[in-house]
Amino acid sequence: MKQFNGFFGCTKCYQPGESLKTKNNGTVHVYPYKIYNAEGPLRDHSRYHKDLLKCLESGNVFRGVMGPCILNELKYYYPIEGTMIDYMHTILEGVVRKLTEYWFDEKFSRENFSLRPYLTSINNNLKEIRVPKFIPRVPREINSIKYWKASEYLAFILYYALPLFRNRMKLNQINHLINLIISIEYLLKKFVDKTFLGSIQILLKDFMIGMSEIYGAHSMLSGIHELVHLTRDIKNIGNLNDFNCFQFENFNRELLRLVKSKSSLGIGLINSFESIKLSSFLNFKENSEGFSAKSQNKYNIKLNINQNLIDKDEKKNIDALFLSKSYSVIKYCKINGIFYSSLFYKKTKRCDFCIEFGSKFGLIKYFVTDNIDTYAVCKTLSKLHNPFYNPRIPDLKSSMNICLQTQSIFIAPVKDLEKCAFIEANNTIYVSNMNVSHLFN
Ligand SMILES: [Zn+2]
Repeated sequence: MKQFNGFFGCTKCYQPGESLKTKNNGTVHVYPYKIYNAEGPLRDHSRYHKDLLKCLESGNVFRGVMGPCILNELKYYYPIEGTMIDYMHTILEGVVRKLTEYWFDEKFSRENFSLRPYLTSINNNLKEIRVPKFIPRVPREINSIKYWKASEYLAFILYYALPLFRNRMKLNQINHLINLIISIEYLLKKFVDKTFLGSIQILLKDFMIGMSEIYGAHSMLSGIHELVHLTRDIKNIGNLNDFNCFQFENFNRELLRLVKSKSSLGIGLINSFESIKLSSFLNFKENSEGFSAKSQNKYNIKLNINQNLIDKDEKKNIDALFLSKSYSVIKYCKINGIFYSSLFYKKTKRCDFCIEFGSKFGLIKYFVTDNIDTYAVCKTLSKLHNPFYNPRIPDLKSSMNICLQTQSIFIAPVKDLEKCAFIEANNTIYVSNMNVSHLFN
């Protein structure tokens, strides 16, 4: 197939796209949003074969088909219907990366949509943010954006964009962005509820329409266009997270890391490949929580907190939890492979103490354990409101809530907690219960 930057470059439909002139005398290939047939005319297996025949007969590219592909020899492979759009390349390294360019790149600094005037304050916010271990990397400044990995674009759009842009970005611009953020959140959940796909399609279409209105006709690149085909792919093939290139990228990185000498690159690559195969066979994978297991007893001796620090009322409630009345108060723990810390635990740049229990959010003050049961004593975070939704689909809100810290306490078994992201920016607390640990395991 033709590449995305040529006419008929979309593998899902027959929209040819348009070539637009750029300011520096170049061209860019765009796909304007077609209000009356946004998704079509669709390609399918039989049309693809007819196009392929025409291409072979004439020896020329026909409607984007450049020639046969070796995968066509597979008996049950339908290249059009069976090839999933890869969200890592299309959304994260395509749409989100381009948006960050519009917001922060100097060449757009005179545009209405630029956030350059806030660059320093946004960088300062990013430096302060402490993220839970389920986010693979701690946030880096915008200045290092050219080194960002796909997972950093994901973290930026899911966790940092709304807190950092609220009150900085123009209202129509942030409302437009919310459509994309909610769509990504829902489509990347551990269990995708397919009854929402119709509503997600409306959000994605609103996002596409708004794109040319806010960022101009040149912004309608192939990545933006491909969003229109996303929900159909999910219905027909499966979830975004089941078909993506993250694992191949990780594999490539591992491979390069293991090549030590540049002079014998070929031999190095073969040896690395063998080592990776062996290590995956032995299941030698680092725990995603990055925390080695220790015996429960050892922890307690090392992490005991003076019980005098416990508030009297809290102590009364805690005493009622344990029959023996003999328990330890500890600063962190690891239950079912998940690491939790507390407000008492200072030796980390991560924030693993913000949790959801039922419909409540909280910050873990400390843990109490009798080595059989472990409970978290939490400060309640009261949910103030969630302004991040499209008024056309008010039931589909972002996972990001604006919260207030209170003095009220609740106690919950650690095994029933869900970890959340806690983002503090410009004197406001944001909590997102979107957990992405399943995306990186
Ligand atoms: Zn298309």
